[in-house]
Amino acid sequence: MKNTWNSDKVEVIEQRNAEYKAAYETVKTYTCSGDVRGECGVKHRTVGAAARHLSKDQRDCRSIGGYSDRRVVGIAADGELLNLSQDDQHDAWSAEAE
Ligand SMILES: [Zn+2]
Repeated sequence: MKNTWNSDKVEVIEQRNAEYKAAYETVKTYTCSGDVRGECGVKHRTVGAAARHLSKDQRDCRSIGGYSDRRVVGIAADGELLNLSQDDQHDAWSAEAE
């Protein structure tokens, strides 16, 4: 599945403040980030690739009896990490399942 910008996502984002929206629209890459685990250090080109990488991190953490608190986040043009909308999160895991 190819993840592309669609109008449903835009609608969700339009409910947010303009500054966030402007930053969000510059998101071209994604990364995996958690408060405890930190960032994975990889710029993923698709939300699905980030989800796959996150799954691997979760498996690795489980294998040593822990868990990963990372989640998939967008990287804005200025380098700021942005939380994804529910739809984007859903797309990430849908892409992962295919
Ligand atoms: Zn990653």
